[in-house]
Amino acid sequence: MPIKEQKVKSVLSVYRDRDPLYGFRFVADPYLGCSHQCLFCISQKREDNKEDIQVRINAAEVLSRQLVKKQREIVGLGQGCDPYMMLEKHYLITHDILQVLAVQGFPVHIVTKSNMVQRDCKLLQEIQEKTMATVTFQFSAPSLELARNIEPNAPSPIKRFNALYNLATKGIKCGIALHPILPFISDSAQGIKQLILAAKESGASYVLAAPFTINSKLSKKYLAYLEQNNPAMIDSYSDLYGRKGKTPDSYWQSLDEMIKTLTHEQGMAYEPPFWSEIQKKQLSLF
Ligand code: SF4
Repeated sequence: MPIKEQKVKSVLSVYRDRDPLYGFRFVADPYLGCSHQCLFCISQKREDNKEDIQVRINAAEVLSRQLVKKQREIVGLGQGCDPYMMLEKHYLITHDILQVLAVQGFPVHIVTKSNMVQRDCKLLQEIQEKTMATVTFQFSAPSLELARNIEPNAPSPIKRFNALYNLATKGIKCGIALHPILPFISDSAQGIKQLILAAKESGASYVLAAPFTINSKLSKKYLAYLEQNNPAMIDSYSDLYGRKGKTPDSYWQSLDEMIKTLTHEQGMAYEPPFWSEIQKKQLSLF
């Protein structure tokens, strides 16, 4: 995949509303585009429609300027990329962003499929001591074979659970996101339960979940995969999604309820950690 180093003028996006799944309003992505090449990815929407990976070489420096005078909010990493794709080993941009957050006292929420996040454990601990550091590991496949097929370049789910365990035992709040859940492929009660139990055993404190949405431009790879491996599924997807591409409430509501129940049975939260809640708890200690 072509790589393009770029100096950017802005790295911080401020959402008006919280991200409905991950709960953050600030996002700072070190890269744009992703080498994990998940077939269902819709994070790689680029205004210029290019497929290269943009390496934001001055991201940390720009972010440090942009955060001055901003009120404390969780900064999310991992919306337009995986902040720990292989390039990070060389560029260390995620690492440098974490250093900025540690120095300026901002909480962080990392979303990743990579075990490389363990490399920055010390920085995450430093942030956790001052404010809050949380890591969400994403899963879309209950079996290793399916994961290899649909997330071809991402570290295996076993490596993700091991990383979750290692971080959780070192005091970092961790959770999993079943995101996206793929209809008829990764939505069986048994598969979902397996992932939730593995999350619990690894030390996760929360579970998040969201279904797949079809994007006419960005879902081509995934639909081609279905066509090749299970052509009958194409009709099932057309029936389910219709023209709009949005997951119908009738499909999602019962699944959502089931995941919530399974998660609560394991004593985990079915929502991301919110900085405001943590702040309230901190204040009540004094
Ligand atoms: S890890 Fe996330 S951003 Fe990267 S290809 Fe997969 S879904 Fe897209």
